[in-house]
Amino acid sequence: MNGILLVSHCILNPYTAVGGSVPNREAMQALVRWSLERDVALLQMPCPEFTHAGASRKPRTLEGYDVPQFRAHCAELATRLAETLGEHRAAGHTILGIVGVDGSPSCGVELTTRECDGSEAKVAGEGVFTRQLREELRGQGWELPYVGLPHRRQTERQGNSWTEELDRLLGEKSQGSAA
Ligand code: SF4
Repeated sequence: MNGILLVSHCILNPYTAVGGSVPNREAMQALVRWSLERDVALLQMPCPEFTHAGASRKPRTLEGYDVPQFRAHCAELATRLAETLGEHRAAGHTILGIVGVDGSPSCGVELTTRECDGSEAKVAGEGVFTRQLREELRGQGWELPYVGLPHRRQTERQGNSWTEELDRLLGEKSQGSAA
């Protein structure tokens, strides 16, 4: 196989998303097709919101999630994930990178959801879990690339050309950059 790509939980199991809603069906299908065609394994990360507040939680913004209790929960998940990656690394497996979910206050990479002037808005920035994971992995000497599964509105504008970014990661790894 050509390596392991970590993906946010709801990309493979949308039932963990608020209301069980699919974040972006087209982009999810494109990602799964991409992984099958390139023989890449998908490692499903835990859903920080589901494991913290359950299936019937209400949606929250970054302000609602960026609180000590949830940060500690995310840090614990990130630590366990780093242990799993350590095992893969010790076995010589290639970790390609991490795919989050843009627009999420927890798993956003380039886009998150914040309170702005009394309403919610998608704005530039990463989610709480993405930030905790990045810090945890950096502390262990891992500098992995992060890619956001595009938000629905981004796909409507740009199609699924974002998987080209995944191709670039795969190309870099096959040329021998950091495993
Ligand atoms: S917290 Fe992350 S994995 Fe869970 S539903 Fe939101 S985007 Fe998906």
